[in-house]
Amino acid sequence: MPAALVAHLKATGAWDAGGVSRRAQARPCRRCAVVCMVGMPSTPCAYEVRCDSVPIDAVGEALALIGGTDMPVRATYRLRWYPGRGRYELDRRNVWSIRAAPAGSTDDDGQRVIVLAEHVCGAPALPVSTAAGRALAEQARQAAEDAAPWADPDAPPPF
Ligand SMILES: [Zn+2]
Repeated sequence: MPAALVAHLKATGAWDAGGVSRRAQARPCRRCAVVCMVGMPSTPCAYEVRCDSVPIDAVGEALALIGGTDMPVRATYRLRWYPGRGRYELDRRNVWSIRAAPAGSTDDDGQRVIVLAEHVCGAPALPVSTAAGRALAEQARQAAEDAAPWADPDAPPPF
């Protein structure tokens, strides 16, 4: 890649000194050598993030976010395919994205919601996404959608 282009990408925050960009890619952890998914999330700002490469289920995501004794608090990210860009990207999860698209469910675009926990060297394994976990996540998503005030257009306003 031309040096001027690399300099431009670094200056605009689209590429860091280690070659990390918005494109999620598999790379070994520098400390423990476990294969991670590495990329730059778009929000809250572009920074390098390393995630475990095994998708977790909704319980695993809750455990990651809560932490506990000898369990670090870990952010979670969605590994999402963007067809127009031809690449996977990591997007940080928040209360709205977690509620709208639980880990392991299928989103409105028909994509499976693949959630990865932030990588912490030596952290215990989290519950992984399984077929049963995906079915539960789909039920939770449907229940949240049914409970939304806009679900029934004939219902009285909630206030
Ligand atoms: Zn590591």
